[in-house]
Amino acid sequence: GELDAGTRELIERRERVLGESYRLFYRSPVHLVRGEGAHLWDAEGRRYLDMYNNVASLGHCHPAVIDAVDRQMRMLNTHTRYVHETIVDYSERLLATMPAELGKAMYMCTGSEANDLAMRVARAFSGGEGILVTREAYHGTSDLTSGASPALGSGQPLAATTRIIEAPDAYRVDTDDIGHWFADQVRSGIADLELSGIRFAGLMIDSIFSSDGVLPGTRGMLREAVEVVHAAGGVLIADEVQPGFGRTGESFWGFGRHGLVPDLVTLGKPMGNGIPVSGLVARPEVLAAFSDSIPYFNTFGGNPVSMAAASAVLDTIQSEGLQQHSAEVGAELLAAYADLADRHPAIGDVRGAGLFIGCELVSDPATKQPDRGLALAVLEELRSRGVLTSVAGPHGNVLKLRPPLAFDRGDIDWAVGALDDSLTALGA
Ligand code: PMP
Repeated sequence: GELDAGTRELIERRERVLGESYRLFYRSPVHLVRGEGAHLWDAEGRRYLDMYNNVASLGHCHPAVIDAVDRQMRMLNTHTRYVHETIVDYSERLLATMPAELGKAMYMCTGSEANDLAMRVARAFSGGEGILVTREAYHGTSDLTSGASPALGSGQPLAATTRIIEAPDAYRVDTDDIGHWFADQVRSGIADLELSGIRFAGLMIDSIFSSDGVLPGTRGMLREAVEVVHAAGGVLIADEVQPGFGRTGESFWGFGRHGLVPDLVTLGKPMGNGIPVSGLVARPEVLAAFSDSIPYFNTFGGNPVSMAAASAVLDTIQSEGLQQHSAEVGAELLAAYADLADRHPAIGDVRGAGLFIGCELVSDPATKQPDRGLALAVLEELRSRGVLTSVAGPHGNVLKLRPPLAFDRGDIDWAVGALDDSLTALGA
């Protein structure tokens, strides 16, 4: 579509004043002004279906969060050097959603900060420096986390202490035991660190491997890898920024779906439904090595307004049954995309857990040749049908379908019909 004059001017103004690292989506960028549930509206009043945002997880502009923030903002906002109920109440509730071994919480404002602290804690605990991440992982913007984020591309040097391992991609890896295969990746990553004289500190993974192309795997898949990590004296850092807070349906946390108890868990995105709040949850004995010697203060981390927002998120996930909803509607959505795959050979694979689905586009299902060009063309076609999403994976050919949990059955036809029509329009 053609950009309207107002949006074109706004983009020009934006380009004059914003740093160039910002990237807009789409050939005709979308100028959004309002959101509600899983729907968004642009400046011209056009409605969109948000198939991408896991931050506004309860739905855009959810009143429970707005009210909680408004109430607390009118009362007091302060920091963690004074006693306040909200952070204690929230921590008790948050920890109650986790296995008993995970007994301590800390707070920041972004997922990057949570992962940055997790890496420092892993190092303090293990006495090592080496961090393993998957091929296309993204863990954050700080020096430490961007140095462990190969997704940023060749312009961003990886830290000398980072080693990349291959993600457990059951569609592409030819093995009948992907869990054992992945554990071998971890073994060779650790061996490679040792060859460079770097002691192993930990494995940092997103348990649904979102940026690696959405790889839900099956229960037990990660167990042997975690045994390898522990035997080598390292820790498991579960980056729950994407799979956390009910998203994957079956369990509240992504690691729960895999039957794991991580050593460190990092939280972000959906935690405040848009209010910047993030967290680190730890086994007390793992955290101690860091906390005993290094003070931590984060000006905005754990402030009462953020904690009020985060509490409202927990309340709402429960009161609206959103985890169950994610499991049920996610399964229906997955089945609908899978039906589509029967009619469009360009859909090589459809996989997911809850409302977190990957749809892999290939030029030929027999060879599984990734079709990045088609995926990018599909994004534009979907946009013209009002469906917003993006791609993931090392080949950029996996549609990432991860709507707010407010996405409901009534949206399935729009989401799936738009993909059907897009592929047909592109002759795929
Ligand atoms: N980890 C993962 C898995 C993420 O997806 C992201 C953000 N895309 C981050 C960490 C970093 O979070 P933030 O942008 O809030 O710093």
